[in-house]
Amino acid sequence: MAFGSLFAGLIGYLISASKARGFEEIINNARERVHYLEYFKVVPPMILFEKDHLTETFYKEAVLAYILGPPNSSIITALRVLEKGLRLRLNDEKSNLAQLIDEVKELRELKDLAHGLRILRNQIVHRDKESDDRDALEVLRHVSEVLNHLYPFDEVIHTITCSICKNKYEHSIKAEEAYLCNIIKTKCKKCRRSNVIIIGKELGIPKTL
Ligand SMILES: [Zn+2]
Repeated sequence: MAFGSLFAGLIGYLISASKARGFEEIINNARERVHYLEYFKVVPPMILFEKDHLTETFYKEAVLAYILGPPNSSIITALRVLEKGLRLRLNDEKSNLAQLIDEVKELRELKDLAHGLRILRNQIVHRDKESDDRDALEVLRHVSEVLNHLYPFDEVIHTITCSICKNKYEHSIKAEEAYLCNIIKTKCKKCRRSNVIIIGKELGIPKTL
């Protein structure tokens, strides 16, 4: 399955913004948040994206909001991804998100995720409080983890166009390596030159922000 460039658009914005005065702080904060994302190995729920394309759009916006700074927007959008994923899995159109979490807690595949589910449920119940970027990261991590348990995958196939000879070839990435900002080296099957994949972005930008 192909996974598009999650960070496209953001990058052009940051590069042009970096030339303007006053944006250094935004860039520095964004760089730090990209490092946190990388550290916590957040794997996007790619199987859910295939089942419901809107979840990929929301997930991308939640990640971008986290990186660029508005944590409350990131959380609301990430919870929409969770809600869609749970609703689809439970085939439940009526319950609210807190009820869906209570329902899904009983599933065998989520038995080790009680802590994460509790954090997510608290975010929903205490909607009125202001959240910071640590909360936003926690929500992204746990939403991703829960959805990857409900929609598991072993590997993803990336199609790469060789930067030297333009040959297209496929490279399989194991689920545990498919985390945002991870850099994976591949070798062109035709000219043997190495090409790099960055999860969430096909060009090397998050790393060089
Ligand atoms: Zn090549």
